[in-house]
Amino acid sequence: MNKIHNFSAGPAILPQSAIDAGIEALKNFSGMGLSLIEVSHRSKEFEAVVDEATKLVKEILKLNDDYAVIFLQGGASMQFDMIPFNFLDEGETAAYTNTGVWASRAVKEAKFFGNVNVVATSEDKNFSYIPKGFSIPSDSKYFHCTSNNTIYGTEMFSFPETSVPKICDMSSDIFSRNIDATQFDLIYAGAQKNMGPAGTTLVIIKKSFLETKRAKRKIPTMLDYKPHIDNGSMYNTPSVFAIFICMHTLRWIKEIGLDEMENRNKAKAELLYNEIDRNTMFTGTVAKEDRSRMNVNFVLNNKEFEDEFLKLCKQKNLSGLKGHRSVGGLRASLYNALPIESVQVLVDVMKEFEINKLNG
Ligand SMILES: *Cc1c(COP(=O)(O)O)cnc(C)c1O
Repeated sequence: MNKIHNFSAGPAILPQSAIDAGIEALKNFSGMGLSLIEVSHRSKEFEAVVDEATKLVKEILKLNDDYAVIFLQGGASMQFDMIPFNFLDEGETAAYTNTGVWASRAVKEAKFFGNVNVVATSEDKNFSYIPKGFSIPSDSKYFHCTSNNTIYGTEMFSFPETSVPKICDMSSDIFSRNIDATQFDLIYAGAQKNMGPAGTTLVIIKKSFLETKRAKRKIPTMLDYKPHIDNGSMYNTPSVFAIFICMHTLRWIKEIGLDEMENRNKAKAELLYNEIDRNTMFTGTVAKEDRSRMNVNFVLNNKEFEDEFLKLCKQKNLSGLKGHRSVGGLRASLYNALPIESVQVLVDVMKEFEINKLNG
């Protein structure tokens, strides 16, 4: 079978080493003679997996013990609720940016718990840029932003400086570049974009933030960060298989390093954006300075060619290029594990399509 080039936005491509390790562990986990999915999560063999995954997150992001790392369930979407539930009391106000579908959902959920001040939005131009130069009132309980807007293909390349605690949804660009993670008080990411399979969500919390800024309301145990931290992601049964794959992806990321990962991601994105800008058949949909390196959104200038182009992509073993159902058009997701060779194949197909069309 020819390898399919996987441009899916999520769940998405993972390093082959992680997938191979998963296949092996499903048969025989850690030499136990048992499958990973039929042993106790409290076995010493699985505890070693959670411990290593946690340690790798801190090592890769250069975080010290001021930070707690946990793996939760419920997706990034659950964090839209857990964050305000844990940190925003009634009568208090949190500052949010609204830069896309996921950011809008975060805003919507926070309103169940307290006041939301949308300090910046790009809704006026269909979320095609990242708002800049906005201010964050100093009495905001926290500031929430989305570093990469998966559906629209915009990415924040700088974060506002503020004394207000910063929270970031990094679901679709975590570990894709070298950023200063210590500027954030809370980072979260659903695993299935750039880190692992669906089923687990990475949450990184600055312990002092949790201790000093916690909401005064009563919080049921499963929705409270503290028991999950105190029990090392094992308050209840964690998503065993998903965390195992994350650990292997994290090993792979650590070996490459975030600087090199960033270089690779820059090269991949540049290759594709250059072709979009050169090719007379296609147009990029977002402001150039805010173009995401993870999710590349573009359209055919003649919309009627879309099905034909997608058909050609399929013939050439390119998969996952249809835009999100809410925006249409085309989207190529270039997550960490996608090799530049796959991007080159896409670029070649775009060139071929242009030649076919120009020659009628
Ligand atoms: C996919 C995505 C989400 C939603 O993730 P779930 O795990 O499905 O809840 C939230 N935020 C961003 C930026 C995403 O890309």
